[in-house]
Amino acid sequence: MPRPITARIHPEAVRHNLGLIKQMTPTSRVWTVVKANAYGHGIERIYPALAQADGIALLDLDEAVRVRELGWTKPILLLEGIFEPVDVELADSHRLTVAIHCNEQLQLLAAARPRQPIDIMLKMNSGMNRLGFRPQVFRDAWERASALPSVGSVGLMNHFATADDGAIDWQLDEFDAATQGMPGEQSLSNSAGVLWHPRAHRDWVRPGTILYGASPTGVARDVAGFGLHAAMTLTSRIIGVQTVAPQETIGYGRTFRADQPMRIGVVACGYADG
Ligand SMILES: *Cc1c(COP(=O)(O)O)cnc(C)c1O
Repeated sequence: MPRPITARIHPEAVRHNLGLIKQMTPTSRVWTVVKANAYGHGIERIYPALAQADGIALLDLDEAVRVRELGWTKPILLLEGIFEPVDVELADSHRLTVAIHCNEQLQLLAAARPRQPIDIMLKMNSGMNRLGFRPQVFRDAWERASALPSVGSVGLMNHFATADDGAIDWQLDEFDAATQGMPGEQSLSNSAGVLWHPRAHRDWVRPGTILYGASPTGVARDVAGFGLHAAMTLTSRIIGVQTVAPQETIGYGRTFRADQPMRIGVVACGYADG
């Protein structure tokens, strides 16, 4: 017998959550984010629940190819774009849309001769300070990208640093100012943007966390009113019981101390289970 711990995946919950997301963002299209093997749920398991999505977004070319092999014909967005010349060939042959966040990636595109121009989402760094062109140089990057024969459509994206704990206005204002007059579809919002910042929904939203029924803040009650369903249920069994006296401690490092007599159940679940 295997150990009594089981993770059950519920594709119908993902389908339900996607329906809620679409209701919340009626004028936007939805890139469902399935990076990291669908946040650990398994791309192949989740895939049937994504039929109503407008696109799929992920990080690994390998995952993009898997999604195409499953039969997905709608857009796929590579959220970190390309890393080396062969990636441009794969983006070409699998018709991937690629995020472009730095000059090195623009150079890869400039050197490439794809059979069809590659659609890109040009990424602005509007305060996260991880990936993207700074607002001051964004127009220059946009002009250079737009002039490349290897580039098809040029969309505009960013990624908020603070969508889950309140204010995004400073980042949104900066984005809007730096992209003024630029054509191109816009994509700004992750899960937190979908839930809490309608002003940032724009053309395409990019929810990951809430697709799986989890809270972007890590606090379940923050999303309690939205009707999301959990995409995973974890069950296990109590495999041992201890009676602990006041002042005794439990576990490694003695970090928990009982302040009253306690009856403790030990659940089969730990490091070994990931
Ligand atoms: C992971 C990711 C998302 C989805 O973020 P969630 O907070 O899980 O919704 C959106 N955009 C980018 C660029 C990402 O890397």
